[in-house]
Amino acid sequence: MGRRGMREARSKLLPLLAAAAVIGGVLTVSDLRRAAASCRSLYEMDVRALEVEAEMEYHLDESRRTLLYALATADPNEQLPYMDQTRANDALVAGSLNQLRASYGKIIPATSLDAFARRWSLYRARRDAVIARILVDSMEVSMAHDQLEGNVAFQAALEELRGIRALLRQHAGRQVELVSGILLRWTIETGIFAAALGGIIWALLRARRERNRVLADLRRSNGALADARYQEQCRAAILEMVSKREALPETLEAVAGLVPGIAPGAGAGIWLDTGGVLRLKASAGVDERTLEAVKRVESVDELHGGNTGPVSLIRDAAGVLMGALRIFHPRWVHFPEHSLVEITQLASLAVENQRLYERLAFQAQHDLLTNLPNRLLFHDRLEQAIHLAYRHASRTAVVWIDLDRYKQINDTLGHAAGDEVLREVAHRLTGLVRESDTVSRLGGDEFAVVLGEIGCIADAERVAVKIRDTLSAPFFAAGHEIRTSASCGISVYPDHGTDAAMLLRNADLAMYSAKRAGRNSYQIFAPHFGESLARRLELERELGRAIPAGELRLAYQALMDRGGRVQALEALLRWNHAKMGPVPPAEFIPIAEESGLIYALGEFVIRQACRDGLRFLEDGFLKGRIAVNVSPRQLLRPDFSAMVERVLEETGYPGERLELEVTENVFMNNLDLVVGQIDSLRELGVSFAIDDFGTGYSSLNLLRRLPVDSVKIDRCFIETLEDGDGGCGTLVRGIIALAHNMQLRVVAEGVETERQFRLLQAMNCDLSQGFLLHRPMPPDALIAALGAAAPEQLEGCKAS
Ligand code: C2E
Ligand code: MG
Ligand code: MG
Repeated sequence: MGRRGMREARSKLLPLLAAAAVIGGVLTVSDLRRAAASCRSLYEMDVRALEVEAEMEYHLDESRRTLLYALATADPNEQLPYMDQTRANDALVAGSLNQLRASYGKIIPATSLDAFARRWSLYRARRDAVIARILVDSMEVSMAHDQLEGNVAFQAALEELRGIRALLRQHAGRQVELVSGILLRWTIETGIFAAALGGIIWALLRARRERNRVLADLRRSNGALADARYQEQCRAAILEMVSKREALPETLEAVAGLVPGIAPGAGAGIWLDTGGVLRLKASAGVDERTLEAVKRVESVDELHGGNTGPVSLIRDAAGVLMGALRIFHPRWVHFPEHSLVEITQLASLAVENQRLYERLAFQAQHDLLTNLPNRLLFHDRLEQAIHLAYRHASRTAVVWIDLDRYKQINDTLGHAAGDEVLREVAHRLTGLVRESDTVSRLGGDEFAVVLGEIGCIADAERVAVKIRDTLSAPFFAAGHEIRTSASCGISVYPDHGTDAAMLLRNADLAMYSAKRAGRNSYQIFAPHFGESLARRLELERELGRAIPAGELRLAYQALMDRGGRVQALEALLRWNHAKMGPVPPAEFIPIAEESGLIYALGEFVIRQACRDGLRFLEDGFLKGRIAVNVSPRQLLRPDFSAMVERVLEETGYPGERLELEVTENVFMNNLDLVVGQIDSLRELGVSFAIDDFGTGYSSLNLLRRLPVDSVKIDRCFIETLEDGDGGCGTLVRGIIALAHNMQLRVVAEGVETERQFRLLQAMNCDLSQGFLLHRPMPPDALIAALGAAAPEQLEGCKAS
């Protein structure tokens, strides 16, 4: 049995014991009382009997004395009354004796009374004899006689009476002894009883005290439990507030309310860090002074120094200070540290959740890279602007901006540089428009601006010009000076559309048209723009089908040396669509690059060029190499070199007869990957040329480090060759000299005039390519054309 069981059993037994003790005690006391009462009545009887006896003794004495008076007088007249008195006293004695016999027989033995009665009657007989002699004898003789006989008998009777008295006294004494004995027992028993009762009562009281203590404990722990339950409910309520994203001040006030009511005048406050300043957000009874104190504090230790109660710093999961919780109290009492920690954790949770939500809400509507509104928010703003323009009967415009050659920047300089450019574009655009206008990044390198109320279309045009100018200024990113430009499309409400979707689509179409018209320009929407976009989409769709359908062919353009002899051929892709007719590579190659079709396309071109090359070799007019264009995206794929090797193997075309043309930008980023691929292909004899040299970002210095065999100077430099001082003559001469210095062959692209050709010859340019010399043509036509003229005698050959 446990302690608790023992306690229970004891608490049941104790009242029973107490009851038994009380009953026992009551019974004993009543017994004793009865015994004492009988003793007392006996004693009282003794006392009364003694009174009767004393009376009797008095009468006895009187009887004797009156007799002696009678004996003492000689006068018979006097004697007689005495004699009468004597007899009267005798009668009283007899009466007393009878009374004793009748009333006190219980306490006086009858033998004693009989003995007395005998002695008394003997005395009276002697005395009567003496009285009889008075009449006969002299007084002296009578008296002597009495002395001799009467007095002796009297004394004997008196003796007997005194014996009775002694008896009575003895008896009474015994009763007294008995009563005092009873009293003693009673006292002892009462003492024992009282002690037992006291013990029981003490035990009962103790049990009661114990029970009360347990009850109080229970009540206390019940209270604590209720407190805990209440706190738990508060916590649950706060968590719900947090999850429902109720207003932060209210939530924090509830959190502050979790600090138990320490005392009147006490309270708690929560401050939040708003941009480096702790500002009051939620509190109860806080004063400015406390607020100032909290602001200055950086660590909990510092805060515990004060006497207004502890401060707990609220930090987010990463440990960044978000605010502080302070408990203030006129006279500080201890507040458990763990509760403080819990409450601050709850506050952090509320704040973090709120911030997360705000961040998510912001992210849902903004572009993370530039922090500009995203397409979603832009749509909203555009609708608002349309609504306003409608009400004020004014106009609103959308300018759609697309960076030119942004993909190139990304591919060649890397994404970090690309991102930096985008951020700078965002910065420049926001600085350019009015506060009320909205600049948004729609995705990739596409931005859009809503120009709120404008008067006429020309207003939007002016902004487009400003945008074009600001974006053609150089950018600096990743240690490079980057030049780009923007193509803008403008659509105006209500002229080009009455809803946001239509305005956006038309601005996009206008931009696309601007791009096609030759970059770095803007276009205002015109209805026929829609057709070109549709074409682009159709081209993308059709291109996938074109390779298996055999619509793609290769044309070859000859590269001639200074003597007019064909040294090499460049393979150029041609797409003759069954319905749309010829599609220029400048149109479909970018589509292929964007859609990823370029890989299949690229492999097809190399394979076809190798096959055709074998034929040219057999026919004997190919002296040099066949050049094939390779997109940067192809070369950035790690399996590119393996693919080329496989194609060479499969076709049996010698690697020494293949040249791959790459643009310089491909080297800007991923140099190691590209150089690795080039090196392994060079081992197979494949040579490399830098195409469109001068248009990218590479420096002449970089050229020194590139594993290439030739450079092809871009057409735009050749175009102005004849312009004298304003042209690129000096530059081209410089490039040629430098390339030669590095043992590189130089090719001039886009040679269209005799004069250009002669100038290039004079500059010692190794090869020339252009419409003047040969247009690109299909293999059969090429063979026919070249076969007709002996290759060695092609000097001055005109375009075919
Ligand atoms: P590119 O590699 O610079 O090719 C030279 C381009 O200049 C060709 O245009 C050619 O027809 C043109 N051209 C040649 N001589 C003259 C001239 O005297 N005057 C003018 N105005 N143009 C001349 P095409 O064939 O339209 O190709 C354009 C671009 O498309 C090529 O530029 C090349 O970058 C790309 N391309 C063509 N075929 C392929 C291909 O198979 N693969 C890849 N990746 N790109 C290709
Ligand atoms: Mg080329
Ligand atoms: Mg070129």
